[in-house]
Amino acid sequence: MIKLYDSFSSSKDNFEPFQKDLVRIFICGPTLYDFTHLGHARIFLTYDLLCRHLNERGYDTDVLVNMTDINQNVFNKAKSESQNYRLIAKFYADRFSEDLAMLNIGSISRLAHVSDYVSYIENHISKLLDDKAAYYANGNVYLDASKVKTYGILSKQSQDQLRLHRLDIGPNKKNPEDIMLWNCSENFDFTWSSRFGEGIPWWHMQDTTVVLENFGANYDIHGGARELLYPHHEAHLAQYELLSGSERPVKIWMHVGLVLSCGEKMSKSLGNVVWSRDLVKKYGQNLLRLYMFSKHYQEDINFNENQIAEKKPILDKIYLAGMKTTEKTDPEISRLIEDFLASLDDDLNSPMALEIFENMCSKVIAGSAVTSLDFERTCQVLGIKI
Ligand SMILES: [Zn+2]
Repeated sequence: MIKLYDSFSSSKDNFEPFQKDLVRIFICGPTLYDFTHLGHARIFLTYDLLCRHLNERGYDTDVLVNMTDINQNVFNKAKSESQNYRLIAKFYADRFSEDLAMLNIGSISRLAHVSDYVSYIENHISKLLDDKAAYYANGNVYLDASKVKTYGILSKQSQDQLRLHRLDIGPNKKNPEDIMLWNCSENFDFTWSSRFGEGIPWWHMQDTTVVLENFGANYDIHGGARELLYPHHEAHLAQYELLSGSERPVKIWMHVGLVLSCGEKMSKSLGNVVWSRDLVKKYGQNLLRLYMFSKHYQEDINFNENQIAEKKPILDKIYLAGMKTTEKTDPEISRLIEDFLASLDDDLNSPMALEIFENMCSKVIAGSAVTSLDFERTCQVLGIKI
């Protein structure tokens, strides 16, 4: 049985998808104005490992990623290059696909451009207005958070704590914790005309709509960085519960830790950004995977480039073991493969899985027998190409 830590229940739960053999996963995707940095790469590598493991355990996977092209950062880039936002978004969407391919990530089945969904977003906001779950204030549309019983559970906040954030503050907003749905009050370089006025659909509503139009009323796993828990994931869940009419429409909220650089979050303004493609070119995706998976996905990684190179002896050991495969697999090796998979069953314990795999390679090098099929199976789960 696969167990995954769920941020909603705050416990490691037995994982059973809504449909018997199919796991549907939504991952918060990139904003299309730059290349993929290492923090983003870690997110997609984590869910790629999860999918590979689920596939090994007999499940099909359907992974949806939204790509945000309606965002002021995209507009700023477009303006600085005298381009339409769509051209900028297309350029970086293509770079994102390249980055995924370089990382050997083939598990994503659907990539959605948010700007293709604006009319659906409008319909969903209209429904919330009709249901009196949303209201107009100063030209903007807000969700009335008091209509959502579970609001605050995901990010573990009381009503009082939620009020302190003063989210998306504007005139005539009823409660500080209410969620912006459509923004007409700020000046954006690109806007969409809608029945609510000229503006842009707010970012939480973008995800909710992409999910509703692709997966319908429920899905199994919501993925993304831990820093998105509040307000983004809390807001998405509130909107999604109201629009889908489902209670607990998401089985598992699975959050990935940050990659820190010089002890801080990667950001261009701090000048500490590391691009995924540069590291793949320098070290190869196999080493990068060994480095990333050597920490449990929930923990933060303090990026240290030397530690990537330090994984080289392990990779050499894997290559050497891969050259010594035979016609049969010894029972001792079969047990290690089972232990390897069992450690991934346990909330994707990749550090433990890597330790077992390295031990298995040492034994194969020392003369224990493994078939190429069994050996490649373990490499396949890790996404290591040999
Ligand atoms: Zn998102």
